[in-house]
Amino acid sequence: MKIKDLLAKGEPTLSFEVFPPKTEDKLESVEAAALEIAGLHPAFMSVTYGAGGGTSRYTVDIASSIMNHGVTPLAHLTCVSSTKEKVHGVLEELKDRGIENILALRGDIPADGKVEKDYQYASQLIAEIKAAGDFCIGAACYPEGHVESVNKTADIQHLKEKVEAGCDFVTTQMFFDNNILYNYLYRIREKGIMVPVIAGIMPVTNSAQIKRICSMSGTYLPSRFKAIVDRFGDNPAAMKQAGIAYATEQIIDLIANHVNGIHVYSMNKPDVAAQIKNSLSEIVR
Ligand code: FAD
Repeated sequence: MKIKDLLAKGEPTLSFEVFPPKTEDKLESVEAAALEIAGLHPAFMSVTYGAGGGTSRYTVDIASSIMNHGVTPLAHLTCVSSTKEKVHGVLEELKDRGIENILALRGDIPADGKVEKDYQYASQLIAEIKAAGDFCIGAACYPEGHVESVNKTADIQHLKEKVEAGCDFVTTQMFFDNNILYNYLYRIREKGIMVPVIAGIMPVTNSAQIKRICSMSGTYLPSRFKAIVDRFGDNPAAMKQAGIAYATEQIIDLIANHVNGIHVYSMNKPDVAAQIKNSLSEIVR
């Protein structure tokens, strides 16, 4: 099923994300985790694309397994480190497997700055996917602004270019204060960006994640969130429980405010996905 058709129903949707392994020996365990999450019957599941594209086969394989277990997959695809030939090879494979949803991304610029010359921005990839077949295309958006953008206004203008190139919905970068999203929605709607916006929610369940988030410039951490990390950061079990509760509260507030699309960055953790899903059993069906 196309995700745009799912979203058009106007009902709350809960979806989960998994990421492929870097090496073949981990493929089986990642696939097992993905299928356990698929057993929770989410609206759809996304599979990320390894930076550089070296593990693209795993993305396609895992997305395919998810589909064979009755859940709609969303395959991510990045372009900045790829040639057109590589991108079109992946598109053909997705078509062959009947995968019709793609999250089209630029990808991060590698630390050594070495990129291919075929693509500079996600909007170019979106236009190409649109021309290559009947795909439903999603893109990324950044309620706090993308780290490289000069300001939020320019970033929103570039989001508009992605929508004009043919993207059907957008998924947000994680955020920990819902007011940031509400403000962003106001701004993008004002600029005529009317595609569905899926809120990306990260349940922060361990100290490694906290360190990573703190190192990401620009992610605002509300004092309520910081207090949880201060109090429970050194106690893994308590941090996990509190992180899941925080994410669940964020989701309930979003749905109460008619943000219907909720995507959980579930990080290959079926137990985290299950706890969130169970806590929302009467809210998202
Ligand atoms: P773009 O939309 O191309 O934007 C990149 C930057 O360029 C922005 O600052 C934008 O404002 C600017 N820009 C865009 N167009 C122009 C223009 N015409 N002129 C000047 N500036 C311009 N990474 C992965 O490697 N694999 C994944 O699976 C993955 N999944 C993700 C999923 C989500 C929901 C999100 C939010 C991010 C994901 N990322 C992933 C990370 C993403 O690749 C990075 O954030 C990357 O730096 C930007 O990708 P983009 O598609 O948003 O880029």
